[in-house]
Amino acid sequence: MPLNPIDLRSDTVTRPTSAMRKAMAEAEVGDDVFGEDPTVNALQARAAALFGREAALFVPSGCMANQIAIRLHTQPGDEVITGRWAHSYLYEAGGAAALSGVQITPVGRTGLFQVADVVPELKSTASFSAPTRLLMFENTHNRGGGRVFPLADLEALAHLARERGLRTHLDGARIFNACTTTGIDPSVYGGLTDTLSFCLSKGLGAPVGSMLVGDAETMTQARWYRKLFGGGMRQVGILAAAGLYALELHRARLVDDHALARQFAEGIQPLPGVRLELLPETNIVIFDLDHLTWDAPVLCQAAAAAGVLMLPMGPKQVRAVFHLDVSREQVMRALDVLEGLLERT
Ligand SMILES: *Cc1c(COP(=O)(O)O)cnc(C)c1O
Repeated sequence: MPLNPIDLRSDTVTRPTSAMRKAMAEAEVGDDVFGEDPTVNALQARAAALFGREAALFVPSGCMANQIAIRLHTQPGDEVITGRWAHSYLYEAGGAAALSGVQITPVGRTGLFQVADVVPELKSTASFSAPTRLLMFENTHNRGGGRVFPLADLEALAHLARERGLRTHLDGARIFNACTTTGIDPSVYGGLTDTLSFCLSKGLGAPVGSMLVGDAETMTQARWYRKLFGGGMRQVGILAAAGLYALELHRARLVDDHALARQFAEGIQPLPGVRLELLPETNIVIFDLDHLTWDAPVLCQAAAAAGVLMLPMGPKQVRAVFHLDVSREQVMRALDVLEGLLERT
């Protein structure tokens, strides 16, 4: 593999900038299991305020944030309803079953869904069914190509949940990408569900960490589950400082990632064997291949050999993600490489 590849596999590959590292080096720290790390406390207060909620909890990963949420809102044997391609269903190592003992019923065709998809699936508390207890949403939707969950659908689903006495969690790993595209304030999303999680380590560019937000009582309980799941950390203000830095200084630039994704999508759309019906709404491009020579794994291998890393999402599907370590010039180079490969038959 060439040195310094153009890495489009994920927005998790970003590295902390020197200014972020400086903020980390200078962070005041304390023992966070005792609640005494001032930088963690500042990050939690900032996250809670941004989403208009009482409290927030710093956790090591987005997976842990989602898994704590599932545990908070359910009892073993309960049913959780979420989108067919939800991260919490497909990519969290079976955590919902292993850590909370719940069964997940996926609905809709992608990761987005509506009230009409949920209503026929709702189970009662009759003695023979797993009672539906939690609705989970993902915004933006990762596997669905960074799609924004429409606010009107989220509001209708949250309303349904309240009516039926169900809990709700929003996996907002990339919620700020959604805010960037829609112009909707984070507090609007924050007010919709019982809990919301978001990642600091994706497009925001921090090396580690996610946040869970909600009301104070729920976050006190979440702290206990974080410990149970092995996520209680000590002088972790060093990492929280990166998160604070990212929240203050890297949110506004997400719009640049979206522009790069669009530039890339428009560049590959006309290439032979590429099927891309919708242009990206945020920073993720997922395209299909219908090509005589290339399937997704082999194309990704050949592109990697030429210095462009992408992720095969299946035999015929490729994902490219745009983030703060990708430049406009690199997108042009990536397009040149792909054009060279795809025009070969
Ligand atoms: C990445 C991601 C997560 C989990 O994040 P990790 O920090 O990698 O555990 C959760 N949900 C979605 C939608 C994601 O894209």
